[in-house]
Amino acid sequence: MTSDRYSIFSLLRETLNGHKGWRPAWRSPDPKPSYDVVIVGGGGHGLATAHYLASRYGVTNVAVLEKGWIGGGNVGRNTTIVRSNYLLPGNVPFYEHSMKLWEGLEQDLNYNAMVSQRGVVNLFHSDGQRDAYVRRGNSMRMHGVDAELLDVAALKRILPMLDFDNARFPIKGALRQRRGGTVRHDAVAWGYARAADRRGVDIIQNCEVTGFRIENGRISGVETSRGFIGAAKVGLACAGNSSRVAQMAGLRLPIESHALQAFVSEGIKPFIDTVCTFGAGHFYISQSDKGGLVFGGDIDGYNSYAQRGNLPTVEDVAEGGMALMPSIGRVRMLRSWGGIMDMSMDGSPIIDRTPVDGLFLNAGWCYGGFKATPASGDCFAHLIARGEPHPVGAAYRLPRFATGRTIDEKGVGAQPNLH
Ligand SMILES: Cc1cc2nc3c(=O)[nH]c(=O)nc-3n(C[C@H](O)[C@H](O)[C@H](O)COP(=O)(O)OP(=O)(O)OC[C@H]3O[C@@H](n4cnc5c(N)ncnc54)[C@H](O)[C@@H]3O)c2cc1C
Repeated sequence: MTSDRYSIFSLLRETLNGHKGWRPAWRSPDPKPSYDVVIVGGGGHGLATAHYLASRYGVTNVAVLEKGWIGGGNVGRNTTIVRSNYLLPGNVPFYEHSMKLWEGLEQDLNYNAMVSQRGVVNLFHSDGQRDAYVRRGNSMRMHGVDAELLDVAALKRILPMLDFDNARFPIKGALRQRRGGTVRHDAVAWGYARAADRRGVDIIQNCEVTGFRIENGRISGVETSRGFIGAAKVGLACAGNSSRVAQMAGLRLPIESHALQAFVSEGIKPFIDTVCTFGAGHFYISQSDKGGLVFGGDIDGYNSYAQRGNLPTVEDVAEGGMALMPSIGRVRMLRSWGGIMDMSMDGSPIIDRTPVDGLFLNAGWCYGGFKATPASGDCFAHLIARGEPHPVGAAYRLPRFATGRTIDEKGVGAQPNLH
Protein backbone atom coordinates (compact mmCIF):
# COMPACT_ATOMS: atom_id res chain seq x y z
CA MET A 1 0.00 0.00 0.00
CA THR A 2 1.33 3.44 -0.84
CA SER A 3 0.84 6.66 1.11
CA ASP A 4 -0.56 9.44 -1.01
CA ARG A 5 -1.68 12.15 1.37
CA TYR A 6 0.68 13.62 3.90
CA SER A 7 -0.96 13.54 7.35
CA ILE A 8 -0.32 12.41 10.88
CA PHE A 9 -2.02 9.12 9.99
CA SER A 10 0.11 8.39 6.92
CA LEU A 11 3.21 9.34 8.92
CA LEU A 12 2.23 6.91 11.69
CA ARG A 13 1.45 4.17 9.16
CA GLU A 14 4.78 4.65 7.41
CA THR A 15 6.66 4.75 10.69
CA LEU A 16 5.28 1.28 11.47
CA ASN A 17 5.93 0.20 7.88
CA GLY A 18 9.61 1.24 7.83
CA HIS A 19 8.79 4.12 5.44
CA LYS A 20 8.51 1.75 2.48
CA GLY A 21 5.18 3.02 1.17
CA TRP A 22 5.91 6.65 0.26
CA ARG A 23 5.39 7.37 -3.43
CA PRO A 24 7.83 9.72 -5.21
CA ALA A 25 6.56 13.28 -4.85
CA TRP A 26 6.01 13.43 -8.61
CA ARG A 27 6.39 10.99 -11.52
CA SER A 28 9.03 11.26 -14.25
CA PRO A 29 6.99 10.42 -17.35
CA ASP A 30 8.19 10.46 -20.95
CA PRO A 31 6.59 13.27 -22.91
CA LYS A 32 3.36 12.42 -24.78
CA PRO A 33 3.18 13.36 -28.49
CA SER A 34 0.92 16.30 -27.66
CA TYR A 35 -0.90 18.16 -24.88
CA ASP A 36 -3.70 20.68 -24.55
CA VAL A 37 -1.30 23.01 -22.77
CA VAL A 38 2.51 23.02 -22.55
CA ILE A 39 4.13 25.27 -19.95
CA VAL A 40 7.76 26.17 -20.66
CA GLY A 41 9.71 26.51 -17.38
CA GLY A 42 9.39 24.45 -14.20
CA GLY A 43 9.97 27.30 -11.76
CA GLY A 44 7.45 28.48 -9.21
CA HIS A 45 5.29 30.27 -11.78
CA GLY A 46 5.19 27.44 -14.30
CA LEU A 47 4.36 24.82 -11.68
CA ALA A 48 1.76 27.02 -9.99
CA THR A 49 0.16 27.63 -13.40
CA ALA A 50 -0.04 23.89 -14.04
CA HIS A 51 -1.54 23.28 -10.59
CA TYR A 52 -4.24 25.94 -10.99
CA LEU A 53 -4.98 24.90 -14.58
CA ALA A 54 -5.78 21.43 -13.24
CA SER A 55 -7.36 22.32 -9.90
CA ARG A 56 -9.31 25.50 -10.73
CA TYR A 57 -9.88 25.47 -14.47
CA GLY A 58 -10.27 21.75 -15.22
CA VAL A 59 -7.40 21.52 -17.73
CA THR A 60 -5.39 18.41 -16.86
CA ASN A 61 -3.78 17.39 -20.17
CA VAL A 62 -0.81 19.61 -19.34
CA ALA A 63 2.99 19.25 -19.44
CA VAL A 64 5.55 21.41 -17.68
CA LEU A 65 8.87 21.32 -19.55
CA GLU A 66 11.95 22.21 -17.50
CA LYS A 67 15.41 22.40 -19.03
CA GLY A 68 17.11 21.61 -15.72
CA TRP A 69 15.52 20.34 -12.54
CA ILE A 70 12.48 21.51 -10.56
CA GLY A 71 13.51 24.26 -8.15
CA GLY A 72 16.91 24.90 -9.78
CA GLY A 73 16.01 28.38 -11.04
CA ASN A 74 15.05 31.52 -9.17
CA VAL A 75 12.32 29.79 -7.19
CA GLY A 76 15.06 28.01 -5.25
CA ARG A 77 17.46 30.97 -5.15
CA ASN A 78 15.45 33.83 -3.68
CA THR A 79 15.41 35.31 -0.18
CA THR A 80 11.90 33.86 0.44
CA ILE A 81 10.13 37.14 1.31
CA VAL A 82 6.38 37.41 0.72
CA ARG A 83 4.26 40.53 1.24
CA SER A 84 1.51 42.60 -0.35
CA ASN A 85 2.57 46.10 0.74
CA TYR A 86 2.22 47.84 -2.62
CA LEU A 87 0.94 51.31 -3.53
CA LEU A 88 -0.54 51.31 -7.02
CA PRO A 89 -4.03 50.07 -7.97
CA GLY A 90 -2.77 47.48 -10.47
CA ASN A 91 -0.42 45.95 -7.92
CA VAL A 92 -2.21 45.93 -4.55
CA PRO A 93 -5.14 43.62 -5.48
CA PHE A 94 -2.82 41.24 -7.33
CA TYR A 95 -0.31 40.87 -4.50
CA GLU A 96 -3.08 40.66 -1.91
CA HIS A 97 -4.65 37.84 -3.94
CA SER A 98 -1.25 36.16 -3.75
CA MET A 99 -1.03 36.71 0.00
CA LYS A 100 -4.43 35.10 0.51
CA LEU A 101 -3.35 32.12 -1.59
CA TRP A 102 -0.14 31.84 0.49
CA GLU A 103 -2.30 31.77 3.62
CA GLY A 104 -4.17 28.69 2.37
CA LEU A 105 -1.34 27.16 0.34
CA GLU A 106 -0.29 24.32 2.62
CA GLN A 107 -3.86 23.02 2.91
CA ASP A 108 -4.42 23.42 -0.83
CA LEU A 109 -1.22 21.55 -1.74
CA ASN A 110 -1.14 19.17 1.26
CA TYR A 111 2.50 20.19 1.62
CA ASN A 112 4.51 21.90 4.34
CA ALA A 113 5.93 25.00 2.67
CA MET A 114 6.84 26.60 6.03
CA VAL A 115 4.63 29.64 5.44
CA SER A 116 5.73 32.00 8.23
CA GLN A 117 3.79 35.25 8.69
CA ARG A 118 6.49 36.86 10.80
CA GLY A 119 5.84 40.34 9.41
CA VAL A 120 7.72 42.69 7.10
CA VAL A 121 9.09 45.98 8.45
CA ASN A 122 10.14 48.72 5.98
CA LEU A 123 12.26 51.37 7.73
CA PHE A 124 12.11 55.09 6.94
CA HIS A 125 14.85 57.59 7.62
CA SER A 126 13.45 61.03 6.72
CA ASP A 127 10.22 63.00 6.94
CA GLY A 128 9.75 62.75 3.18
CA GLN A 129 10.12 59.01 3.30
CA ARG A 130 7.63 58.82 6.18
CA ASP A 131 5.09 60.68 3.99
CA ALA A 132 5.65 58.20 1.17
CA TYR A 133 5.17 55.23 3.52
CA VAL A 134 2.05 56.75 5.07
CA ARG A 135 0.66 57.11 1.56
CA ARG A 136 1.51 53.51 0.76
CA GLY A 137 -0.01 52.30 4.05
CA ASN A 138 -3.21 54.25 3.38
CA SER A 139 -3.46 52.80 -0.12
CA MET A 140 -3.02 49.30 1.32
CA ARG A 141 -5.73 49.86 3.94
CA MET A 142 -8.12 51.24 1.32
CA HIS A 143 -7.64 47.93 -0.52
CA GLY A 144 -8.32 45.95 2.68
CA VAL A 145 -4.65 45.05 3.25
CA ASP A 146 -3.17 45.28 6.76
CA ALA A 147 -0.65 48.10 7.37
CA GLU A 148 0.70 49.79 10.49
CA LEU A 149 2.92 52.81 10.98
CA LEU A 150 5.47 52.28 13.76
CA ASP A 151 7.19 55.09 15.66
CA VAL A 152 10.71 54.67 17.00
CA ALA A 153 9.58 53.44 20.42
CA ALA A 154 7.41 50.69 18.89
CA LEU A 155 10.17 49.75 16.47
CA LYS A 156 12.74 49.47 19.29
CA ARG A 157 10.55 46.87 20.93
CA ILE A 158 10.71 44.53 17.88
CA LEU A 159 14.13 45.39 16.41
CA PRO A 160 16.31 46.59 19.30
CA MET A 161 19.53 45.75 17.44
CA LEU A 162 19.10 48.49 14.80
CA ASP A 163 21.45 51.47 14.78
CA PHE A 164 18.72 54.05 15.44
CA ASP A 165 21.05 57.03 15.86
CA ASN A 166 23.23 56.36 12.83
CA ALA A 167 24.65 59.77 11.86
CA ARG A 168 23.90 59.41 8.12
CA PHE A 169 20.71 57.32 8.21
CA PRO A 170 18.88 57.86 11.52
CA ILE A 171 15.85 55.57 11.79
CA LYS A 172 12.60 57.48 12.24
CA GLY A 173 10.03 54.69 12.12
CA ALA A 174 8.66 51.99 9.84
CA LEU A 175 5.74 50.68 7.84
CA ARG A 176 4.83 47.19 8.96
CA GLN A 177 2.74 44.48 7.35
CA ARG A 178 2.21 41.76 9.94
CA ARG A 179 0.79 39.25 7.43
CA GLY A 180 3.95 39.39 5.32
CA GLY A 181 6.85 37.05 6.07
CA THR A 182 8.74 34.18 4.50
CA VAL A 183 7.96 30.86 2.80
CA ARG A 184 10.48 28.10 2.21
CA HIS A 185 11.21 28.65 -1.48
CA ASP A 186 12.15 25.20 -2.82
CA ALA A 187 9.28 23.59 -0.91
CA VAL A 188 6.98 25.83 -2.94
CA ALA A 189 8.31 24.30 -6.16
CA TRP A 190 8.09 20.76 -4.77
CA GLY A 191 4.60 21.31 -3.31
CA TYR A 192 3.18 22.69 -6.55
CA ALA A 193 4.92 19.95 -8.56
CA ARG A 194 3.47 17.22 -6.36
CA ALA A 195 -0.03 18.69 -6.35
CA ALA A 196 -0.04 19.19 -10.13
CA ASP A 197 1.31 15.68 -10.71
CA ARG A 198 -1.47 14.20 -8.57
CA ARG A 199 -3.99 15.82 -10.93
CA GLY A 200 -2.36 14.29 -14.00
CA VAL A 201 0.08 17.01 -15.08
CA ASP A 202 3.30 15.62 -16.62
CA ILE A 203 6.40 17.27 -15.17
CA ILE A 204 9.27 16.66 -17.56
CA GLN A 205 12.72 17.62 -16.32
CA ASN A 206 15.89 17.84 -18.43
CA CYS A 207 13.76 18.88 -21.39
CA GLU A 208 14.88 22.16 -22.94
CA VAL A 209 12.62 24.01 -25.36
CA THR A 210 14.76 24.89 -28.37
CA GLY A 211 12.17 26.31 -30.76
CA PHE A 212 8.51 26.85 -31.55
CA ARG A 213 6.45 25.47 -34.39
CA ILE A 214 4.18 28.24 -35.65
CA GLU A 215 1.81 27.63 -38.58
CA ASN A 216 -0.20 30.49 -40.11
CA GLY A 217 0.40 32.64 -37.02
CA ARG A 218 -0.74 29.91 -34.65
CA ILE A 219 1.34 27.81 -32.28
CA SER A 220 1.23 24.06 -32.87
CA GLY A 221 3.95 22.84 -30.53
CA VAL A 222 7.49 23.13 -29.25
CA GLU A 223 10.82 21.70 -30.40
CA THR A 224 12.70 20.29 -27.43
CA SER A 225 15.87 18.41 -26.55
CA ARG A 226 13.54 15.38 -26.35
CA GLY A 227 11.88 15.90 -29.70
CA PHE A 228 8.80 17.74 -30.94
CA ILE A 229 5.84 18.03 -28.54
CA GLY A 230 2.54 19.19 -29.98
CA ALA A 231 0.42 21.70 -28.03
CA ALA A 232 -2.81 23.57 -28.63
CA LYS A 233 -1.59 26.29 -26.25
CA VAL A 234 1.87 27.15 -24.92
CA GLY A 235 2.59 29.28 -21.83
CA LEU A 236 6.05 30.78 -21.30
CA ALA A 237 7.11 30.97 -17.63
CA CYS A 238 10.89 31.01 -17.96
CA ALA A 239 11.94 33.85 -15.67
CA GLY A 240 15.49 35.03 -16.27
CA ASN A 241 15.43 33.54 -19.75
CA SER A 242 12.17 35.09 -20.97
CA SER A 243 13.76 37.25 -23.67
CA ARG A 244 15.89 34.42 -25.03
CA VAL A 245 12.98 31.97 -25.15
CA ALA A 246 10.52 34.52 -26.59
CA GLN A 247 13.08 35.43 -29.24
CA MET A 248 12.79 31.87 -30.60
CA ALA A 249 9.14 32.70 -31.34
CA GLY A 250 10.15 35.95 -33.05
CA LEU A 251 9.18 38.19 -30.09
CA ARG A 252 11.26 41.05 -28.66
CA LEU A 253 10.34 41.76 -25.01
CA PRO A 254 10.69 45.01 -22.98
CA ILE A 255 13.02 43.16 -20.59
CA GLU A 256 16.69 43.24 -19.54
CA SER A 257 18.32 40.41 -17.60
CA HIS A 258 20.53 41.04 -14.57
CA ALA A 259 22.08 38.92 -11.81
CA LEU A 260 20.69 39.32 -8.30
CA GLN A 261 22.74 37.89 -5.45
CA ALA A 262 21.75 36.61 -2.01
CA PHE A 263 23.74 35.65 1.05
CA VAL A 264 23.41 33.45 4.11
CA SER A 265 25.49 33.57 7.28
CA GLU A 266 26.51 30.79 9.63
CA GLY A 267 23.67 29.71 11.93
CA ILE A 268 23.33 31.85 15.04
CA LYS A 269 20.86 31.95 17.95
CA PRO A 270 17.49 33.66 17.32
CA PHE A 271 18.38 37.24 16.45
CA ILE A 272 15.71 38.75 14.21
CA ASP A 273 12.16 37.38 14.12
CA THR A 274 10.74 39.49 11.30
CA VAL A 275 11.77 40.62 7.81
CA CYS A 276 13.43 44.04 7.84
CA THR A 277 14.30 46.32 4.91
CA PHE A 278 16.66 49.30 5.03
CA GLY A 279 15.12 52.50 3.65
CA ALA A 280 18.34 54.36 2.84
CA GLY A 281 20.06 51.67 0.80
CA HIS A 282 19.19 48.35 -0.73
CA PHE A 283 19.44 45.76 2.04
CA TYR A 284 16.88 43.31 3.41
CA ILE A 285 17.30 40.62 6.04
CA SER A 286 15.51 37.79 7.81
CA GLN A 287 16.64 34.70 9.73
CA SER A 288 16.03 31.19 8.49
CA ASP A 289 14.69 28.50 10.80
CA LYS A 290 18.17 26.93 10.75
CA GLY A 291 19.56 30.18 12.22
CA GLY A 292 21.31 31.64 9.17
CA LEU A 293 20.86 35.35 8.46
CA VAL A 294 19.48 35.55 4.91
CA PHE A 295 20.06 38.87 3.19
CA GLY A 296 20.34 40.59 -0.16
CA GLY A 297 20.49 43.92 -1.94
CA ASP A 298 20.69 45.37 -5.42
CA ILE A 299 20.93 43.72 -8.82
CA ASP A 300 24.34 43.75 -10.48
CA GLY A 301 24.77 46.81 -12.66
CA TYR A 302 25.20 45.13 -16.03
CA ASN A 303 23.24 42.62 -18.10
CA SER A 304 24.12 38.98 -17.58
CA TYR A 305 22.88 35.40 -17.86
CA ALA A 306 25.56 34.00 -15.50
CA GLN A 307 23.97 32.76 -12.28
CA ARG A 308 26.55 34.50 -10.10
CA GLY A 309 27.36 38.10 -9.34
CA ASN A 310 30.25 40.50 -8.85
CA LEU A 311 32.16 41.73 -5.80
CA PRO A 312 31.19 45.46 -5.79
CA THR A 313 27.60 44.38 -5.15
CA VAL A 314 28.76 42.14 -2.29
CA GLU A 315 30.52 45.15 -0.77
CA ASP A 316 27.46 47.35 -1.24
CA VAL A 317 25.18 44.82 0.48
CA ALA A 318 27.64 44.38 3.36
CA GLU A 319 27.85 48.17 3.80
CA GLY A 320 24.06 48.41 3.94
CA GLY A 321 23.92 45.69 6.57
CA MET A 322 26.62 47.33 8.68
CA ALA A 323 24.93 50.74 8.51
CA LEU A 324 21.69 49.18 9.72
CA MET A 325 22.80 46.66 12.34
CA PRO A 326 26.52 46.87 13.16
CA SER A 327 26.21 43.89 15.51
CA ILE A 328 26.16 41.50 12.53
CA GLY A 329 29.70 42.61 11.58
CA ARG A 330 31.35 39.63 13.25
CA VAL A 331 28.98 37.00 11.86
CA ARG A 332 30.65 34.89 9.18
CA MET A 333 29.12 34.57 5.75
CA LEU A 334 28.52 30.97 4.76
CA ARG A 335 27.34 31.13 1.15
CA SER A 336 26.33 33.52 -1.61
CA TRP A 337 24.67 32.77 -4.91
CA GLY A 338 22.97 34.49 -7.80
CA GLY A 339 19.90 34.18 -9.96
CA ILE A 340 18.90 35.94 -13.17
CA MET A 341 16.11 38.47 -12.96
CA ASP A 342 14.19 39.51 -16.04
CA MET A 343 13.76 43.19 -15.27
CA SER A 344 10.86 44.82 -17.10
CA MET A 345 11.00 48.48 -18.08
CA ASP A 346 8.48 49.65 -15.47
CA GLY A 347 9.36 47.15 -12.73
CA SER A 348 6.00 45.37 -13.06
CA PRO A 349 5.27 41.97 -14.59
CA ILE A 350 3.63 40.82 -17.82
CA ILE A 351 0.82 38.24 -17.95
CA ASP A 352 -0.67 38.39 -21.42
CA ARG A 353 -1.26 36.70 -24.74
CA THR A 354 1.30 37.38 -27.48
CA PRO A 355 0.88 38.22 -31.19
CA VAL A 356 1.27 34.46 -31.89
CA ASP A 357 -2.12 32.77 -31.53
CA GLY A 358 -2.10 30.28 -28.63
CA LEU A 359 1.23 31.52 -27.22
CA PHE A 360 0.99 33.19 -23.78
CA LEU A 361 3.60 35.10 -21.78
CA ASN A 362 4.33 35.25 -18.05
CA ALA A 363 7.49 37.34 -17.47
CA GLY A 364 9.18 40.43 -16.07
CA TRP A 365 8.94 39.58 -12.38
CA CYS A 366 12.03 41.53 -11.39
CA TYR A 367 12.85 41.27 -7.68
CA GLY A 368 9.32 40.50 -6.64
CA GLY A 369 8.42 37.30 -8.38
CA PHE A 370 8.52 34.86 -5.50
CA LYS A 371 5.79 36.55 -3.48
CA ALA A 372 3.71 36.66 -6.67
CA THR A 373 3.97 32.93 -7.38
CA PRO A 374 0.45 31.79 -6.36
CA ALA A 375 -1.39 34.75 -7.92
CA SER A 376 0.74 34.61 -11.04
CA GLY A 377 -0.06 30.91 -11.44
CA ASP A 378 -3.77 31.52 -10.92
CA CYS A 379 -3.92 34.50 -13.29
CA PHE A 380 -1.85 32.79 -15.99
CA ALA A 381 -3.95 29.63 -15.75
CA HIS A 382 -7.14 31.74 -16.02
CA LEU A 383 -5.81 33.51 -19.12
CA ILE A 384 -4.70 30.28 -20.81
CA ALA A 385 -7.86 28.33 -19.97
CA ARG A 386 -10.47 31.02 -20.59
CA GLY A 387 -8.72 33.37 -23.00
CA GLU A 388 -9.56 36.32 -20.73
CA PRO A 389 -7.32 38.02 -18.14
CA HIS A 390 -8.10 37.26 -14.51
CA PRO A 391 -9.59 40.43 -12.91
CA VAL A 392 -6.65 40.88 -10.50
CA GLY A 393 -4.04 40.38 -13.23
CA ALA A 394 -5.67 42.51 -15.90
CA ALA A 395 -3.23 45.41 -15.44
CA TYR A 396 -0.24 43.37 -16.55
CA ARG A 397 -0.88 43.50 -20.30
CA LEU A 398 1.83 44.12 -22.90
CA PRO A 399 0.21 47.13 -24.64
CA ARG A 400 0.95 49.30 -21.58
CA PHE A 401 4.52 49.74 -22.83
CA ALA A 402 3.28 51.04 -26.19
CA THR A 403 0.58 53.31 -24.74
CA GLY A 404 2.70 54.66 -21.87
CA ARG A 405 0.29 53.41 -19.18
CA THR A 406 3.15 51.79 -17.25
CA ILE A 407 2.87 50.61 -13.63
CA ASP A 408 5.90 52.30 -12.16
CA GLU A 409 5.49 51.40 -8.48
CA LYS A 410 8.50 53.36 -7.25
CA GLY A 411 8.02 56.27 -9.66
CA VAL A 412 11.64 56.22 -10.71
CA GLY A 413 11.40 55.60 -14.43
CA ALA A 414 12.11 52.94 -16.93
CA GLN A 415 15.53 51.79 -15.78
CA PRO A 416 15.94 48.27 -14.43
CA ASN A 417 18.59 49.28 -11.90
CA LEU A 418 16.09 51.63 -10.26
CA HIS A 419 13.46 49.01 -9.51
C1 LIG B 1 18.86 36.18 -5.16
C2 LIG B 1 17.39 36.38 -5.39
C3 LIG B 1 16.59 36.81 -4.34
C4 LIG B 1 15.21 37.00 -4.54
N1 LIG B 1 14.42 37.32 -3.47
C5 LIG B 1 13.08 37.42 -3.63
C6 LIG B 1 12.25 37.64 -2.49
O1 LIG B 1 12.70 37.68 -1.35
N2 LIG B 1 10.90 37.79 -2.69
C7 LIG B 1 10.36 37.73 -3.95
O2 LIG B 1 9.16 37.91 -4.07
N3 LIG B 1 11.13 37.47 -5.05
C8 LIG B 1 12.47 37.30 -4.90
N4 LIG B 1 13.26 37.02 -5.99
C9 LIG B 1 12.63 36.95 -7.32
C10 LIG B 1 12.01 35.59 -7.58
O3 LIG B 1 12.82 34.53 -7.14
C11 LIG B 1 11.72 35.43 -9.09
O4 LIG B 1 11.09 36.58 -9.60
C12 LIG B 1 10.81 34.23 -9.37
O5 LIG B 1 11.26 33.09 -8.68
C13 LIG B 1 10.75 33.98 -10.87
O6 LIG B 1 9.78 33.02 -11.23
P1 LIG B 1 10.04 31.43 -11.29
O7 LIG B 1 10.01 30.90 -9.91
O8 LIG B 1 9.04 30.83 -12.18
O9 LIG B 1 11.48 31.38 -11.92
P2 LIG B 1 12.50 30.17 -12.12
O10 LIG B 1 12.56 29.30 -10.93
O11 LIG B 1 13.77 30.78 -12.59
O12 LIG B 1 11.80 29.34 -13.28
C14 LIG B 1 12.02 29.50 -14.66
C15 LIG B 1 12.45 28.15 -15.20
O13 LIG B 1 12.46 28.18 -16.61
C16 LIG B 1 13.44 27.25 -17.02
N5 LIG B 1 13.77 27.49 -18.42
C17 LIG B 1 14.39 28.56 -18.97
N6 LIG B 1 14.55 28.39 -20.28
C18 LIG B 1 14.00 27.21 -20.59
C19 LIG B 1 13.85 26.47 -21.81
N7 LIG B 1 14.31 26.95 -22.97
N8 LIG B 1 13.22 25.27 -21.76
C20 LIG B 1 12.75 24.77 -20.60
N9 LIG B 1 12.88 25.43 -19.42
C21 LIG B 1 13.50 26.62 -19.42
C22 LIG B 1 14.60 27.51 -16.07
O14 LIG B 1 15.51 26.43 -16.02
C23 LIG B 1 13.86 27.76 -14.75
O15 LIG B 1 13.80 26.60 -13.94
C24 LIG B 1 14.65 36.81 -5.82
C25 LIG B 1 15.46 36.37 -6.88
C26 LIG B 1 16.81 36.14 -6.67
C27 LIG B 1 17.67 35.66 -7.81
